[in-house]
Formats: sequence, C-alpha cells, structure tokens
Amino acid sequence: MVSRWSVEVDRGVCIGASVCANYAPGHFELADGKSRPLAAVIDPDDAVLDAAETCPVAALAVRDADSGALLAPEE
Ligand code: SF4
Repeated sequence: MVSRWSVEVDRGVCIGASVCANYAPGHFELADGKSRPLAAVIDPDDAVLDAAETCPVAALAVRDADSGALLAPEE
C-alpha cells in the first residue's frame, strides 16, 4: 500500500515568506499573510519535502499519515 503524507503549517510560527507556495504551489496558499496547506493529507510529492526543508522558520511538518513519522524537515 502506498503511504500518504500529512502536511501541517504552524501558523503561529509562519512568517509568510511564501517559500512553500513557491516550491509547491499546488499544496500551499497564503491566507491573511500566513501559509496553509490546501489539503491536510496528500499523495507523496517531493516538492512538499523541499518546501519543508526550505521554510526559513521550520513552520512546516510533513509526516507519514499512517505512522506519524516526521519526513521533513530533518531534525
Ligand atoms: S515557507 Fe514557512 S514561513 Fe514561508 S509561508 Fe511557508 S510556512 Fe510560512
């Protein structure tokens, strides 16, 4: 079975730098100056990992939706 990923944005940490929406425009949008995921659970997409690794304040978390294991950013 192919795993799915959960995508979370900590809107209390996000500074609205929009890196995530630039890296993965199909997965994030800016609302009220902060990012939010367009879907909480997604099919795997490396662009979302890149966004989580690149967010300047580590506001994004990508997890395996089944196990909850953190996939990005690397700690
Ligand atoms: S890259 Fe990080 S700080 Fe920038 S909008 Fe996305 S979640 Fe917010």
